[in-house]
Parts: sequence; C-alpha cells; structure tokens
Amino acid sequence: MGGRWQESTSTDRIGVVDPATEQVIGRVPAGTAADIDAAVSAARAALPGWSATEPARRGAVLAAARDLLAARRKEIAATVSAELGAPPAFASAVHVALPTAVLGSFAEIAAEFAFVEKVGNSTVYQEPVGVVGAITPWNYPLHQIVAKVAPALAAGCTVVLKPAENTPLVAQQFAEILDEAGLPAGVFNLVTGLGPVAGQALAEHPDVDLVSFTGSTDVGRRIGAGAGAAVKRVALELGGKSANVVLPGADLAKAVNVGIANVFANSGQTCSAWTRILVDDARYDEAVGIAVEAAAKYRPGDRLGPLISGRQRDRVRGYINRGVEQGARIVAGGPEAPDGMTTGYYVRPTVLADVTPEMTVAQEEIFGPVVVLIRYQDEDDALRIANGTVYGLAGAVWGADEESAVAFARRMDTGQVDINGGRFNPRAPFGGYKQSGVGRELGTHGLAEYLQTKSLQF
Ligand code: NAD
Repeated sequence: MGGRWQESTSTDRIGVVDPATEQVIGRVPAGTAADIDAAVSAARAALPGWSATEPARRGAVLAAARDLLAARRKEIAATVSAELGAPPAFASAVHVALPTAVLGSFAEIAAEFAFVEKVGNSTVYQEPVGVVGAITPWNYPLHQIVAKVAPALAAGCTVVLKPAENTPLVAQQFAEILDEAGLPAGVFNLVTGLGPVAGQALAEHPDVDLVSFTGSTDVGRRIGAGAGAAVKRVALELGGKSANVVLPGADLAKAVNVGIANVFANSGQTCSAWTRILVDDARYDEAVGIAVEAAAKYRPGDRLGPLISGRQRDRVRGYINRGVEQGARIVAGGPEAPDGMTTGYYVRPTVLADVTPEMTVAQEEIFGPVVVLIRYQDEDDALRIANGTVYGLAGAVWGADEESAVAFARRMDTGQVDINGGRFNPRAPFGGYKQSGVGRELGTHGLAEYLQTKSLQF
C-alpha cells in the first residue's frame, strides 16, 4: 500500500493451498482492520492527484498494465493453476487472456469516454466516486479483480482491494504490474486477509465511498445492508442459476455440447454458468444421451480441475445427494470420489436428469461440475421455469432462427443471454437481475458505476 509492500500489523499468515495437491504453496499476511485503515488513508491521500490526471493518461497506465500482464502471461497462468487448480490450458486461455482484454478495453474507454457533456444550458461532468473498496472471490481470481480495478482507475477513483484468501498470490502479482505500469503510489492498495476481518473492515470503513463486492449472496446481502445504512454506493455480483433454453427446432447436439462445456469449464465455479438445461418433452431423452457423452470427455485431473477447497467439494457432493433424495437421476458422475483419486478436491462431472423446477438442485447455486436437465412442455412453460429462481445473471437460448431465440431472450429476467452460441464480449455490460446483484461490470456501463455526475448551469 502507498506504493510499497508494507508489513501487516499482525504476524498471522494465511496458508495458500494448491487444491490439486492439497499442499501449502505460499503464505500471505492475514491483514487486520488497522491495515485496512492505513490502506484507505493511502487511497484517500492519492485521490486528488489521480482524479485530476487526464483520462488519456489514466488509460495509458492501463494500457501499460495490459502489456505487462501479456508479457508475464505464462507466470500468471501458472499461479492461477497452482492456487485455483485450473487446468493450464484454461488458465492461459481464460484466466489470463480475459483480464488482459478487459484491461485493454478500459485503456481505450478511458481515452474515448465523454466525461463532460452539454445538456441545454448545463455542462454535466462525470466525476470519480472517490475511494473504492473492492472485495473479490477466488473463482476467476484475476478477472474479478481487473473487472473492478480497471474501471475504477479509468474513472479516476483510487482503490483498496481485499482479494479472496484462497487466491491472493495472483493479486500480489497484479499489484506489481500496476506499480511497474507507472501507477502513482497510493492509487491502488492491496490488503490480503480473511473475509470477516479484513473484508468486513473494508466494507464498513467510513472513508470508503463505494464498495464493489463479488461473492456469495449471504455476504453480499450484509454488505448491501451496511452500505444502505451508511448511504454509500454499492455494487454486488452474487451468482446465479442460469438457464440454457433449447427451443424446439434448435440444434440440440450443439446446444447441449456447448452447454456442458460452459458449466464444466472452471469445474462449474462460474457465477454465470448455464447450470440448468431446459429441453422440450419430445427431445428430452435424446438430450440426456448427448449430455452423458459430452460429460465423459471431462476427466478429473485432466480437463476438469479440482474445486477450490475441501469445504466446497463436500458442499457440491451434498447437493448431488440432495438431488437424488428429491428424485433426480444420476446419468453421469455422482457424489463419490473420482476413480483412483485420493488427493485433490475433485468432484465427478455430474449430470442429473428427471430434475423438476422446484428441486433444490434446480433452485440453488451449486458451484461445482453439476448440470441439471429439466423437461418443459411448451415455450410458456420453458419461460416460467427459466425465470423461476431468485437469480437472473445469465442464460442461453438456442432457436431454429435468431428471431425466435431473441424473442424468447427478451422475456427472460436475466442480465446476459447468449443467442445460438454468441461469443463472450468483454465490453458488454455484465450483471444481474433480481438477487444476482446490483450494478454492472465491464464496458462503459462498468465505468459508469465508478462515476457521479455534477451539472453546472449557465
Ligand atoms: P464469500 O462470499 O465468502 O467470499 C467472497 C469474498 O468476500 C472473499 O474475498 C471473502 O474473503 C470476502 N468475505 C467473506 N466474508 C466477508 C465479510 N463478512 N465481509 C466482507 N467480506 C467478506 O464466498 P465463498 O465462501 O468463497 O463461496 C461460497 C459460495 O459463494 C460459493 O459456493 C458460490 O455459490 C458463491 N460464490 C459466488 C461467486 C460469484 O462469482 N458470484 C464467487 C465465489 C463464490
């Protein structure tokens, strides 16, 4: 913090565990409320200088960070593989490439964005919100950091980041990159530590102007309540239970194969994963067969990494058992450990059939390699099922033609929908309807979260 590594006020350390080997691969300071306080002071002190820096110059620092990240991609991918357990190819193709693209997008947006506009006899200025407290999870450890820090810096805010305790090593590397990119001291500050200690101190700090949180609904709800009481801005990204809707006439094989890949990537630890596949009655059995074949390609320890922790592994296995108790049929995988694997927090790639919309496995976020297949009767039934959870983060619609798929997507209560396999767009706003969250990340909508407006009349 404040432009250099500083000792924590505590000597406690958090061990970082490789979930594939269960070995401790590093230790980081368990930051305290006093450490958070010092980091917030550093961010406050740096705010006048950074907020007055020309947006194009702020963009240039982000562009330099993007280039440094690209240059260190092998090392960063190895870190994410080690602390998250992501297979190396996925670590490189997604965990490093995605934040590299997002840094690049905000470098451009900072330079292009109209921070001043004329509205009749007024001049409207978009000014930075101030000091940002960012709290991030472990599932996409660098992407989640960059999706908050890059727009905040582009907007002219200063930041204190508390990354997930399971994946702090890549956060430390990112701090080095920002420093090397020429970011002035104190503009970005990193405090590693536990959620209920360092995270809570940051969320509740009176001198933080905006809290941006990604993680579990329980913690998000508490952070939102605290921010409401303090009348401060808050952004929450809290997961989902997204529907992959295969309309009659759509390419079933493609829809199910892409759907399985979408969930099993990152071992199902993706908030926007399409974990519910909805298929019409006439083609349901065929869809089950395709899903079983697709799941067989995900061998644990090879294409399918472990879960982040023993706790998450047990939680996911508990959900599979719960599904069976409520009448679901395991057609691939299951709650047992994968054959011959005694080490690592692995869960078998699991497909549950005969799932009905009210079952726990159709309602709650499992956050593991588990897909449920739900049968629907007609399009209205499909829509009712798709919209029938408390979440609304993402989704997919596959139709015989684009028009019918778009018409269905427009009726879904969700923030992002991929039409017939549409590609991820790092500039498109990302965020939830309903209990999936508040606010948007990425692109100009993501930038706007970190701005407040002032109008002068003439
Ligand atoms: P979590 O919400 O506990 O952790 C996310 C972040 O919040 C971490 O940095 C953590 O240290 C911090 N945190 C924890 N308690 C806090 C508190 N009281 N005050 C402030 N910060 C706090 O999530 P988890 O326990 O790692 O995962 C549990 C479940 O959450 C998962 O199974 C999944 O369903 C969901 N999840 C969702 C996402 C997502 O992308 N939306 C990411 C991770 C986890």
